[in-house]
Amino acid sequence: MIETDVRKFFMLEEGVQVDRHVRVIENAFVFTNDKGEAVSKRQRITEELIKNVVSELVGEEAIPIVFYLRGKKQISEFIIAEELDLEIHFTRNLLYRLLEFNIVSFIRKKDRIKGWYICYWDFNEHMVPYLAEKMRLSKIARLKDRLDKEQKFDFYMCRNACTRMPFEKSMEFNFKCPECGELMHEQDNARTKEFIQTQIRELENKKEF
Ligand SMILES: [Zn+2]
Repeated sequence: MIETDVRKFFMLEEGVQVDRHVRVIENAFVFTNDKGEAVSKRQRITEELIKNVVSELVGEEAIPIVFYLRGKKQISEFIIAEELDLEIHFTRNLLYRLLEFNIVSFIRKKDRIKGWYICYWDFNEHMVPYLAEKMRLSKIARLKDRLDKEQKFDFYMCRNACTRMPFEKSMEFNFKCPECGELMHEQDNARTKEFIQTQIRELENKKEF
């Protein structure tokens, strides 16, 4: 049984630091507190979850590589390229992009016959739930930031909805739309605020990925 504890501090784009602990046991994971006690239900690392994380952070084109590496150990990048029928530079490029998020890792070994170094790659499956959680927290932080702006400012917009800007900025334009020249009016943003609040609630209640 492979058990991996990942304890990470997230630094979200907004400078908010969050502490999260994830324990991965084979193909399942739980979030734990700092004493190592489970604070969430045990969930499986599903193909769906892997696809979501990889496509959002790196791109859909990297998905086949990850699934090819899943369950294998130390695979040479030449083998990956050959097996997936991909160009070696393209393969390397995707691997390095996956490496940026620690989704994969590698070791370099010298090829005894050819005398050059070859990278052998592994898929770090334990990073998936951690990254999914980080994505969820980042989205909540961004939405809260947007909601904050919606609550603080009055927004102005022309009837053609070309642009939308806060009061101060629309004053600079004498309330004339810079795109079409029509007069801009204050826009009721109650619905926008409601929409953002719903999204935040949904993400906050999302206990399962
Ligand atoms: Zn306009």
